[in-house]
Amino acid sequence: MTAVWQEQVSLKAYNTFGIDVKARYFTQAHCDDEVREALAQARQRELAVQVIGGGSNLLLTRDIDAVVLHMASRGRRVLSDDGERVVVEAEAGEPWHPFVQWSLAQGYCGLENLSLIPGTVGAAPMQNVGAYGVEVKDVFAGLTALDRETGELRDFDLEACAFGYRDSVFKRNAGRWLILRVRYALSRTLRAHLDYGPVRQRLLEQGVEQPSAQAISDAICSIRREKLPDPSELGNAGSFFKNPVVSAGLVERIRARYPGVVAYPQADGQVKLAAGWLIEQAGWKGYREGDAGVHRLQSLVLVNYGQASGAQVYALAQRIQADILERFGVELEMEPNLY
Ligand SMILES: Cc1cc2nc3c(=O)[nH]c(=O)nc-3n(C[C@H](O)[C@H](O)[C@H](O)COP(=O)(O)OP(=O)(O)OC[C@H]3O[C@@H](n4cnc5c(N)ncnc54)[C@H](O)[C@@H]3O)c2cc1C
Repeated sequence: MTAVWQEQVSLKAYNTFGIDVKARYFTQAHCDDEVREALAQARQRELAVQVIGGGSNLLLTRDIDAVVLHMASRGRRVLSDDGERVVVEAEAGEPWHPFVQWSLAQGYCGLENLSLIPGTVGAAPMQNVGAYGVEVKDVFAGLTALDRETGELRDFDLEACAFGYRDSVFKRNAGRWLILRVRYALSRTLRAHLDYGPVRQRLLEQGVEQPSAQAISDAICSIRREKLPDPSELGNAGSFFKNPVVSAGLVERIRARYPGVVAYPQADGQVKLAAGWLIEQAGWKGYREGDAGVHRLQSLVLVNYGQASGAQVYALAQRIQADILERFGVELEMEPNLY
């Protein structure tokens, strides 16, 4: 069946910032054949293709003069189960949080700390999504991607993905690989990660001393709901800047002026700084410029109060970057993908 191509489609409902730009063409892929067909048609018509999932890691600053291909494939399955280790696979278009909840309902542990992250299964490896001390790479068992240059399918193992902090081979070669399905190695025995942020404290407040994976997920969902704005109510893309990793010497110079600097020493001698802390110290928390702003509770989250354009949000982000560089000598890198 030939997939429908719509023309001049607003992407407002397809990005969590709620930015109203238009795609020249818009189509959806529910299976591998529809992906291949969309790519072939685009090639024939000499059009670029922009793949999107849930649109929760995008900042759209202009109309997209291309075919926007929305991944809408569905399906999740158990590939192997030895009674302890269970390998599951899901199609790229599966919404991430329902996939996590499905795995927990089966009694499979490993994804609980990654609960309530918006977006799709296919995009999660792009930036090695992470939260509360766990990243995709910690439970990753492989993925299948289509090489858009050669049209061939390729399986990637952990090493081939070259995962880093909010980074992967897919992010570094944007547009080359189209991820079709992803596999995770989960476990029937819980190895709880409770030491990051207020997770353990939240569980203790609830009277839970020996939490199940579902209890950890529930606690993390409740913390996230308090901390982060819900994109259905206030447009945003989660953390807007990565936490910068800088030299120990620079941290000492910052500490001399700001004794409370939030800093985490890394194994290689460098130090990770909390970008949110730097932005808050610089006085940006709650700042608003038209409909673009910095969230009033979370300095790391830029928001769209309704009618902000992507260019306005980007201009605000650049002003914050310049200010942080001037004040602290630290370069902030954007986390969302800019178009
Ligand atoms: C409220 C909120 C909280 C968030 N919290 C977190 C968090 O805790 N941790 C975290 O890491 N992130 C977080 N994010 C960011 C975001 O949810 C993740 O990066 C998510 O994985 C993006 O998925 P998506 O489907 O929305 O991707 P999109 O935004 O649609 O796409 C992101 C990028 O991936 C590419 N892409 C999408 N699908 C595919 C595919 N199948 N194959 C190849 N390329 C593809 C796109 O071209 C684009 O470059 C948060 C975002 C929001 C709004």
